[in-house]
Amino acid sequence: MTASRAADLVAALLFVLSLAGLSQHRTSRAGVVYGIAGMALALAATVVVSARSVSAGPVALILLATVIGAAVGLWRARRVEMTQMPELIAVLHSFVGLAAVLVGWNSYLEVEAHGSRGRIAADLIGIHHAEVFIGVFIGAVTFTGSVVAYLKLSARIKSRPLTLPGKNALNLGALALFAVLTVWFTVSPGLPLMVAVTVLALALGWHLVASIGGGDMPVVVSMLNSYSGWAAAAAGFLLDNNLLIVTGALVGSSGAYLSYIMCQAMNRSFLSVIAGGFGIEAPPGGAQEQGEHREVRAPEAAELLARARSVVITPGYGMAVAQAQHPVAELTRRLRERGVEVRFGVHPVAGRLPGHMNVLLAEAKVPYDVVLEMDEINDDFADTSVVLVIGANDTVNPSATDDPASPIAGMPVLRVWEAEQVVVFKRSMASGYAGVQNPLFFRDNTSMLFGDAKQSVEAILEALGSGTGRDPRAAARGATAVR
Ligand code: NDP
Repeated sequence: MTASRAADLVAALLFVLSLAGLSQHRTSRAGVVYGIAGMALALAATVVVSARSVSAGPVALILLATVIGAAVGLWRARRVEMTQMPELIAVLHSFVGLAAVLVGWNSYLEVEAHGSRGRIAADLIGIHHAEVFIGVFIGAVTFTGSVVAYLKLSARIKSRPLTLPGKNALNLGALALFAVLTVWFTVSPGLPLMVAVTVLALALGWHLVASIGGGDMPVVVSMLNSYSGWAAAAAGFLLDNNLLIVTGALVGSSGAYLSYIMCQAMNRSFLSVIAGGFGIEAPPGGAQEQGEHREVRAPEAAELLARARSVVITPGYGMAVAQAQHPVAELTRRLRERGVEVRFGVHPVAGRLPGHMNVLLAEAKVPYDVVLEMDEINDDFADTSVVLVIGANDTVNPSATDDPASPIAGMPVLRVWEAEQVVVFKRSMASGYAGVQNPLFFRDNTSMLFGDAKQSVEAILEALGSGTGRDPRAAARGATAVR
């Protein structure tokens, strides 16, 4: 085995270890380190192999590109906010797509100009043509799809879905045309066909993602992640690079599986995401208020907590927006010091990215062992004194289980309402991502603590510091009824 093949193998194993590490809170840091090591090894092996086969000029260019790319990557990664992560990922996918298109075109032009130079057996040249065509197609769909996803996520264009007449027929028609063109190109390759497939795929990628509502963008980004993996794998075949094939397949399949998990946790089918339109507008009457809600203020919430036996915190998108994870971690620490059992219940699609809440809680150094998944905590709510719903809404909505007519009916949710007391931290009675009203807010054991989640938690910390120690039931009774 040559040294470069050995390096490929080790890098591929490091990527597998990275994925395995990233799948768990406790091992995620090691997962990142494995990923960095695998990529560093892959880059080093590429440069060394290139140095053997080409002159110093191109190698210097590769090194220059690597340094510029690494500098830009570091700069962006340091500046990006967690809430901007999906748009950053969308941009990165667009690069992978564009790279696959360029690799495909390069391979086509090289074989046209110089023949395959014996690299490809004569009877396999048709397969090479198919690889070029498929690689360019997947790459171009990924490129424009990711650009549109980025523009929507960063609010540079409207997130409303584009609804051209017969949009599904247009997508299916484009796929059918691609199949016909692929057969044609394999039999008789030519520049016009290359141009045609590139234009077709660029248009399809644009239309596919433009027709999806802004609210479904995270699922789309995960889907594009999968496409970008397949585009990289296609480029790997063209470049005869085994590591790129393995890495592309890892990204492609893990992205596809992630999209599947997200759809499951939202109780939506993958096809309904592609058909688009969810999360854009509340259904008629969907966000109307459903009775009286009660308000509680920070000092009263602090009293409830001080007397609680067990507390469960269910964070959601609002905790990320407010950047409340640090005071929430401090609250956890203070309550645990007082002997209160504090745990977290994390819904699989809380926030706007899978693992969003876990990342924030880890960043704030909340101990891993108190952060539980929905299935691990759901049966414990009935035995919980106080639940703090911090910026979560859809993921704690009882209508998902009680109301078959609800747009989120069937979505698995955290059954927070089974606890003795529930305190909901949010700024208003506005609905969440799905645009549906939440009957939890009007339940007898629920109190609303209005305001920015970070400020509210800080106010509770301050009140806990002064420790008034009144009876919690008195505090609950003191909560004011508000229309
Ligand atoms: P939601 O989006 O349902 O609700 C978030 C709540 O946070 C809002 O009701 C908002 O109310 C409140 N909020 C916003 N800013 C603040 C702030 N500064 N302080 C306090 N509260 C604030 O959140 P969930 O996490 O419960 O649900 C996630 C939703 O996103 C689900 O519907 C899920 O399907 C969807 N989704 C998740 C994905 C994922 O991978 N995690 C991917 C795609 C979609 P107010 O404005 O009144 O403050």
